[in-house]
Amino acid sequence: ATKLSQRVQRIKPSPTLAVTARAAALKAQGQDIIGLGAGEPDFDTPDHIKDAAKAALDRGATKYAPVPGTPGLKKAIVAKFARDNELTYSTDQILVSVGGKQSFYNLFQATIDDGDEVVIPAPYWVSYPDMVQLAGGEPVIVKTDIDTGFKMTPDQLDAAITDRTRCVVINSPSNPTGKAYTRAELAALGEVLARHPDVIVATDDMYEHILWTEAPFVNIVNATPALFDHAIVMNGVSKAYSMTGWRIGYAGGPTDLIKAMSKIQSQSTSGATTVSQEAAQVALDGDQGCVADMVRAFKERHDFVVAALNDLPGVRCLESDGTFYSFPDFSEAIARNGADDDLAFSEMLIEKAGVALVPGSAFGAPGYLRLSFATSMKNLENALSRIRDILK
Ligand code: PLP
Repeated sequence: ATKLSQRVQRIKPSPTLAVTARAAALKAQGQDIIGLGAGEPDFDTPDHIKDAAKAALDRGATKYAPVPGTPGLKKAIVAKFARDNELTYSTDQILVSVGGKQSFYNLFQATIDDGDEVVIPAPYWVSYPDMVQLAGGEPVIVKTDIDTGFKMTPDQLDAAITDRTRCVVINSPSNPTGKAYTRAELAALGEVLARHPDVIVATDDMYEHILWTEAPFVNIVNATPALFDHAIVMNGVSKAYSMTGWRIGYAGGPTDLIKAMSKIQSQSTSGATTVSQEAAQVALDGDQGCVADMVRAFKERHDFVVAALNDLPGVRCLESDGTFYSFPDFSEAIARNGADDDLAFSEMLIEKAGVALVPGSAFGAPGYLRLSFATSMKNLENALSRIRDILK
């Protein structure tokens, strides 16, 4: 057997990508599987963005891009932060990467030494803890549950911060819960973080635009502007513009931090794909109507899914504020149906109902399942009725 590094043995493959792959494999074998595991919108990338990419190719957008991003895209990102987020950055405070995932990878590689800690509220996006471990750090998980709306309290945050804390991650609206912190809740967390200027506050705004609360989107830096100098704002075009396969994410933050992250990137991938950067620039600069169309569809499906889930015996589900996920508590249904845990139960759902959901354990929240409604109403109706049929 090949001798592998300790580093790679510390981590596991992405469980959400694994569920998607498993559902696809069963489907390829001819089985009738409805996949509700997807972490990407089911819509195609809007035409005006694809057309811009085609034109860019014809203009010769086929060469290396500068490591931190093309000047055009960085300018569009600066304008986007000013327009949507009231945040003022210069172009040397921006780093474009191969998806929001690489933005986080660069961040942890650039800031974490062995044994350093990163505070991560659970349920969390699956990649944060493993990326921290890959960098030699220790994820410090703060547990939240359905009864507190999946929100970390200021006391919990305060208790989690130690001398070794290098970074705190806030993801709102959240994958997997769909919940978003209010401005007041963020300000209360921000007050704690403002007392720790050495701790980097990473706000993951990936789902910023997929939001249907009455109040407009707000992140922790908006709520507590004093954090600006030790905060990094993470975002990307993957979810808002249905551009997951283009692989463009970006970060705005302190110049020295961005420069360090860029150095990591210069020795790993170099600049993100040139033609994708041209497309992302048009996505950010162009008409935003396409985003509103997708959000309307997600909201309609959300309303159906949450009602249908709450109608199932032994299942409880909160309304999401945004994203295309719901995160129902199945703990009672799991017990009633004789499954050992959410992992066994999700296996049972695949085998008996032909429906693929991601077990909550993957997000640090056993007893829950994540349902992605980035699929058609017809699939959702079908899936929910199949689940209903096998539940005791
Ligand atoms: N952050 C969150 C919360 C996500 O859900 C995702 C994607 O699933 C990402 C970041 C990274 O997105 P990408 O690398 O596809 O741009």
